[in-house]
Amino acid sequence: MQVHEIQVRSILTRTGGFLREGYSHTLNPYRGCAYGGALCGLPCYAQHSVWITSGRAWGSFLDVKVNAAEVYRSQVNRERRWAATRGGLRIYMSSVTDPYVPQERQYGITRSLLEVMLDEPPERLVLQTHTPYPLWDLERLRALLPLVPDLSVNISIETDRDNLGPGFPPHATPVAERITALESLRKAGIPCVAVVAPMLPIEDPREFARRLGAACDRVVLDHFLLGDGSPGGLRTRRTGFPSKLEEAGWQQWTSLEQFEKVCDIFSEVLGADRVQKSRHGFNTPGPGRCSETTTR
Ligand code: SF4
Repeated sequence: MQVHEIQVRSILTRTGGFLREGYSHTLNPYRGCAYGGALCGLPCYAQHSVWITSGRAWGSFLDVKVNAAEVYRSQVNRERRWAATRGGLRIYMSSVTDPYVPQERQYGITRSLLEVMLDEPPERLVLQTHTPYPLWDLERLRALLPLVPDLSVNISIETDRDNLGPGFPPHATPVAERITALESLRKAGIPCVAVVAPMLPIEDPREFARRLGAACDRVVLDHFLLGDGSPGGLRTRRTGFPSKLEEAGWQQWTSLEQFEKVCDIFSEVLGADRVQKSRHGFNTPGPGRCSETTTR
């Protein structure tokens, strides 16, 4: 893994496409992703962006935006004014990296951004990760709660399986640890969402729905055919991942029919109000203030 420290001139990127309805900006503390060689990295279409990779193999590099917090502070007022007529400053962090790559432990870029947000809070903040590591920032998230009207931690958990078998790399972080992190966040009063996206082969959908339902406030499910923003899931197909699934005998999971069946099971187990799909789910405002005592 090649790690480089870089200086950036901008850290808040005005949204387009899929996320535009729910967010004014995306915020990526890193360029590239340390989990690119993990299971989630296979279908990750950030790998197609030449602007991000500059020809480097996905998962082989990480550019650390060491001045991210400073740039946020200098940029935020102008972007807040721009966002004022568009629903307010609503930040999705992150869209093409993970805010909790292992290097975050050393560099603390995400942490520094959460700290500067204590002075300059957005109206909406969604932290999206494939890890249990938002727990590293539990105190900062707690401090942000009264300042950010819509705060949520979204943890991606695409399957209940610990691995997909031969030929597939391991998860970025273990499934059980991510579910436990959701439970801990919820206990701490941090609104949290499980994101089953893009849905991968699930062993026991009903039990998976129960586990997620017990751990978080709501669940968003997505399939590459719906959510990758291209006709027929072309962006994901370019990664070769759907073909790999088909070769391994998981072809039913590359169709929407199976996806809809799983969504129906989730709705049955959790209630339709706690289950959302694709674009609507990602853009829907967070679950609101959650608590351990919330009735489910
Ligand atoms: S953690 Fe996110 S950005 Fe990183 S490789 Fe996985 S899907 Fe892509």
